[in-house]
Amino acid sequence: MITPFEAMQAALELAPTSPHPTNKIAASVFDIKNTPDFLVTRTNHWPQIIKDHFGMETKIGNSSGTIHAETACLTALGFNAAEGASICITDPFCPNCAKNIAEAGIKNIYIDEAGFEKDFFKRRSGHFDVMSMQVAARAGINVYALNNATQQQRVIYEAPKDYIPENDSPIEVIKINALSEPDFLTHIQNAEEKHKRRKFTLSFVKDSNGDAYCLIARAHAVIGYSLQKPDEALELMRPIGKYSFIQEPVNRMIMFIARKGYHLIDDYFYCSQVPTSREQVNLVGAGIWRISVGDYQKSRDSYGIKAMEVLKVAKIIDYS
Ligand SMILES: [Zn+2]
Repeated sequence: MITPFEAMQAALELAPTSPHPTNKIAASVFDIKNTPDFLVTRTNHWPQIIKDHFGMETKIGNSSGTIHAETACLTALGFNAAEGASICITDPFCPNCAKNIAEAGIKNIYIDEAGFEKDFFKRRSGHFDVMSMQVAARAGINVYALNNATQQQRVIYEAPKDYIPENDSPIEVIKINALSEPDFLTHIQNAEEKHKRRKFTLSFVKDSNGDAYCLIARAHAVIGYSLQKPDEALELMRPIGKYSFIQEPVNRMIMFIARKGYHLIDDYFYCSQVPTSREQVNLVGAGIWRISVGDYQKSRDSYGIKAMEVLKVAKIIDYS
């Protein structure tokens, strides 16, 4: 059994190897049910293929090419399910990682105490209080600060024991037997009829027993927030700076796959419209190199289309 201090130590030792020139961050995921010795540690980084083609400065659409450490860990779990697991981070987490951690079903977050003292954090601590911590609390995640030198733990937030987060648009899971291109198209057609013009993703995955499922995810506010309360819904749609409480469907799908310890079955990843540039960078980070797109002309903003164009030309993602 790995302790939070051991998992944090692994992150602290790896962080200096981060390719980021100034913000060197690492995270460890551990405390996985059924595999108590499992530990994965990652730094923030540029996926090799993005670094090779664009370098570290170029934006893909309006997204940087980096993958944050927390998100990198969550896409490196293999068949280990993130649901109920814990994560250690060398720095306070950003709102986007908070959403990913929540969607992946992580139960405990540990932050290195020293991370709160860095200038880098002090410049953006507003987002930590107003968004990251709100997202964690709504999802029912416990948050602690760890001091590895003194082996002390400080409570930042603890969720009530019987707390169950709001989840009014759960990801649809359909058990499937056949795994062919025509089956994929049939599932897409059914979902298109059901979700009309709404943005969604659909994928085929398998679990460690080899059982296969079709997953369907819609864009929605992050888990813990309901869109069925009109006042709150309006509030949630409004971005705070460059962040919002809405979780795009590609990110929801990738994090649900992490939550359950599923494996994406090659090629079977569909998005009803062009994903945002951040979603496309996350796809690359998750090792997904081919997606099917419903409407090529439609994206949340023009950056999504631009990102698709450059990633297509660079042959990083194949859009069919
Ligand atoms: Zn982050």
